[in-house]
Amino acid sequence: MRATVLLALLTGLSGCHQRVSPPTASQAGRATQANAPEQPTAPDSVARMKLADVAAAVPGARFELRYATSRNFTGAVLPGYGAPTPLLRREAATALTQVQQELEAQGLGLKVWDAYRPVRATLGMVAWCERNQRTELLDQGYIARRSRHNQGVAIDLTVVDLKTGRELDMGTGFDEFSERAHTANAAGPVAANRRILGDAMRHAGFVNYVDEWWHFSFDVPDPMPFDLPLERW
Ligand SMILES: [Zn+2]
Repeated sequence: MRATVLLALLTGLSGCHQRVSPPTASQAGRATQANAPEQPTAPDSVARMKLADVAAAVPGARFELRYATSRNFTGAVLPGYGAPTPLLRREAATALTQVQQELEAQGLGLKVWDAYRPVRATLGMVAWCERNQRTELLDQGYIARRSRHNQGVAIDLTVVDLKTGRELDMGTGFDEFSERAHTANAAGPVAANRRILGDAMRHAGFVNYVDEWWHFSFDVPDPMPFDLPLERW
C-alpha cells in the first residue's frame, strides 16, 4: 500500500471538507478529531428509529441546509439531500434544545447549516474533489470520507440575533476552508461571538472541532453511519 494511501486511511478524513494548504503535523493531528472510525452503514430502518427532526425538537431554531441547495462549495445539491430536513440522533437533538434556550435568554438563536449527512453525500464530496483534480486533498486527508455527520451526531451552525434575524459576525462564512475558520484564530467581537456559540454548545455537551468554528459533535453510546436520504419526516 502506498504510504500516502496508508496515511489517508490512518488519519481518516476530516470532518467536513477540504483544505487548501498541505497539512502540518499539528494540522493532521487536529484533523483526526472529526473523523469517524470505519463501520458498516446501518439500515435505513435503524436510521429512522435513531434520528429525529431537529426542526421539531428545537422550534425556535432557523434552518438553511446548504447542501440541499447549490449554495455550497460544490455548487450543486449533494446526493441524498432531496428534502431540506435537518436530522440528528435523538440525544443530540434534545441537547440542542438546551442550547437554543440558553441563547434565547440573550435575545439570540441558532441557525443550522447542516446536521445528519447521508454517506452518499460524503462520497459526493469526494467525487467533486476527483472531478476537480483535487485528489491531493484526499491523499492529505482533507476531504471527509467518514464524517461524524454521517452518524447524525455532528452539526454545523451559527448564531442569529432574534430581532433582526442577522447572523453574528463569526469572521468567516460557512465552509471557508482556511485558518481564519480555526475557532481560536479570532480576536475582539468575532472571538466574543464564537465564544457565545461555543459556550452554549459546550454547556449542552457538544464538542467543537478546532479547525471549524461552526462544527460541533455530540457523543452517543452507539454511533453508526447511515445512508438514509433526507426525506420529509
Ligand atoms: Zn461539519
